[in-house]
Amino acid sequence: AKVEGPGACIPYRHELHLRAMERNSIERDLRVALAQRQFVLFYQPKVDINTGRINGAEALIRWQHPERGLISPDVFIPVAERCGFISEVSKWVLDEACRQNSAWQAAGLPKIGIAVNVSAVDLRRPDLTDIVANTLVRHALSPQYLELEVTESMVMRDVDTVIGTLRRLRSLGVGIGIDDFGTGYSSLAYLKRFPVKRLKIDRSFVRDIADLRDGKVIPKVIIDLAHSLSVNVLAEGVEDAAQLEILRSLGCDEAQGYFLGRPMPAMEFELFLRHAPNG
Ligand code: C2E
Ligand code: CA
Ligand code: CA
Ligand code: CA
Repeated sequence: AKVEGPGACIPYRHELHLRAMERNSIERDLRVALAQRQFVLFYQPKVDINTGRINGAEALIRWQHPERGLISPDVFIPVAERCGFISEVSKWVLDEACRQNSAWQAAGLPKIGIAVNVSAVDLRRPDLTDIVANTLVRHALSPQYLELEVTESMVMRDVDTVIGTLRRLRSLGVGIGIDDFGTGYSSLAYLKRFPVKRLKIDRSFVRDIADLRDGKVIPKVIIDLAHSLSVNVLAEGVEDAAQLEILRSLGCDEAQGYFLGRPMPAMEFELFLRHAPNG
């Protein structure tokens, strides 16, 4: 993909449903959103399937637009990526997630890892490792309590560069999670070379797990693959007890989804954490 400067947004597939005018107005408004503190992070628990303990949280950005109300990241993140504005957004997300996690630890809450989503643009930045390192220092957060989530399709482009970046991050002590796993075309040979801590089974597989006759096949393959590589495996999008039970029986380590906890504001997550088995 080409690198575009501000004002050089090119529409692409995922944005086709956004009219050009709307895209322009989102782009314009994004620039004031950061300054006017319109972004907020929600936190969704990652739960140990066997113990019910909360092992971590994924930070998910929300945009409280003064006129349009809440705008989904699925809408504005692609626009921010095409406009070169994503780096500013990502820095804010990283900073805020680390600040919050550090504050929770200082308040005596159980120590958990916080996961932040990284965009393809961030992953191509040569200074990503420095930004992450500086952020951890600024908030006095130990790197073991930060995880970066990258999608399978992101790491499969430009494999050698990405492996280099991920290895530098890994040597900082930060964890790497592969998001939406199973939806891309990852080569097993490459997967072995990635310094990965966790695979996240895409929720499209979890959705079908209890219904379809062979709905368990792919989750089972991913779980066994992860374990053979000594990688932790989490199922995303778990919406009911039946799905959770099947995942448990397949040996899945962790789960995330509405059944276990919706993404919630920091204050609410804090209460949730206090009342968890490890709280
Ligand atoms: P993702 O990383 O795959 O995040 C999981 C999405 O699934 C979240 O949507 C979450 O709210 C939703 N979800 C969680 N549990 C369930 C469930 O049980 N059922 C269903 N149907 N959905 C569930 P959200 O928050 O709207 O985020 C959408 C996507 O936007 C994320 O997908 C991620 O790719 C992107 N995103 C969110 N926050 C950030 C961010 O801070 N930076 C970047 N670069 N991307 C972000
Ligand atoms: Ca994610
Ligand atoms: Ca995902
Ligand atoms: Ca996704």
